[in-house]
Amino acid sequence: MDFGYSEEDEAFRREFRTWLEQNAPRDRTPVEGMWEESEQDWQRKLAWWRKLASGGWTCVDWPKEYGGRGLSLLQTIIYHQELQRVNCPLPFIGSGPNLLGPTLMHWGTAEQKARFLPKIVSGEEIWCQGYSEPNAGSDLASLQTRAIEEGDYFRITGQKIWTSQAQYADWAFVLCRTDPEAPKHRGISYILVDMKTPGITVRPLVQMNGARGFNEVFFDDVKVPRRNLVGEKNQGWQVAITTLMYERNIGGGGSPLLGLIDELARLARRVQRNGRPAWEDSDVRQKIAEFKCEGEALRYTNLRQLTRRLKGLAPGPEGSIMKLCASELNLRIQSFAMELLGPYSQLEYRSPLAPDEGRWSFRMLGARAGTIAAGSNQIQHNIIGERVLGLPKG
Ligand SMILES: Cc1cc2nc3c(=O)[nH]c(=O)nc-3n(C[C@H](O)[C@H](O)[C@H](O)COP(=O)(O)OP(=O)(O)OC[C@H]3O[C@@H](n4cnc5c(N)ncnc54)[C@H](O)[C@@H]3O)c2cc1C
Repeated sequence: MDFGYSEEDEAFRREFRTWLEQNAPRDRTPVEGMWEESEQDWQRKLAWWRKLASGGWTCVDWPKEYGGRGLSLLQTIIYHQELQRVNCPLPFIGSGPNLLGPTLMHWGTAEQKARFLPKIVSGEEIWCQGYSEPNAGSDLASLQTRAIEEGDYFRITGQKIWTSQAQYADWAFVLCRTDPEAPKHRGISYILVDMKTPGITVRPLVQMNGARGFNEVFFDDVKVPRRNLVGEKNQGWQVAITTLMYERNIGGGGSPLLGLIDELARLARRVQRNGRPAWEDSDVRQKIAEFKCEGEALRYTNLRQLTRRLKGLAPGPEGSIMKLCASELNLRIQSFAMELLGPYSQLEYRSPLAPDEGRWSFRMLGARAGTIAAGSNQIQHNIIGERVLGLPKG
């Protein structure tokens, strides 16, 4: 990969920078990660997405025919650099932009692409992912939610759990069992469901950090048009895997962790250890330097993946490496922040006396989730062993 920026790339940078100077929100207090704490945080993220969309600055690496800008690899990197520079990263607004959109580009009909992709780009429609069930997480193919075909419709009954952003979602992509007699991977279908359809109940689940990101979603004889089937009936497992590959790719991402490590270094300069700034302790500096090296290694791994994506290839199992390493590095960074903060680590998010508004303890309590979401880290170990390294099944 050549990291030199051409004049055209620099012109692109200037264009986006100028747009950001005029349009970036004044309030740049970070909203914490994927699982915001409040409805207000969600509204701020959505408003920023829609503002970006108004200038054509969302889903920028999607082909133009689907509403993107068809940006090159380097321009996509520049785009994220500029967003980071003004401390307004691309907000996470559910599973449409990163998961359903790319999946539909591979598997959707022309009608489905035309109907759904533009509203993902604009942020008019929010999507959630209806995969996990109370007895089907790692072993996802054991799912029991039934869809029975009746004329032009499916009738769906069952329960999903851990459905992120379901409380805000307009639509869900739902895995359903359509042939209970077939071997479990073969009797599954991938169906798009309008969350306003009668028979759907969403119940929030509150996490230990107070965020209300997840939900239980109940389907009670929910009628869905057959045209919302993605791929063939009973062949939804292949479609589902495409989505999972995209999910594991975004589960990591080296660059956001680099920003976090810089923040950790700033914290170390402010807090005291043995009567002196913690930063003056060489063990503290050593630890932060180690994090930085790992963060950089992840950044380059991420760039390798991006190259693959921008060549039009679907992500490979290597995404598991990013997901595994980034979530574990994040966990170690957050634990170290707790050590630096000492007793202050017990103050809650947004407590007036907490350094950095208590963001570190909020993140610490949420960090474990990253090791489970998008397939637990034990499962990623299995994938890396079997599919990347070619080791025999354990
Ligand atoms: C933050 C977050 C967001 C999520 N968002 C969504 C969402 O939007 N939509 C959705 O559908 N789901 C979502 N999930 C659910 C997530 O996909 C599941 O939690 C995950 O797949 C694990 O499934 P489980 O919780 O049922 O655990 P289980 O599968 O019951 O696993 C329990 C433990 O056993 C281990 N284990 C299981 N099988 C094996 C094996 N073969 N080898 C080694 N170890 C194994 C696991 O690693 C884990 O430690 C989310 C989860 C989190 C944490």
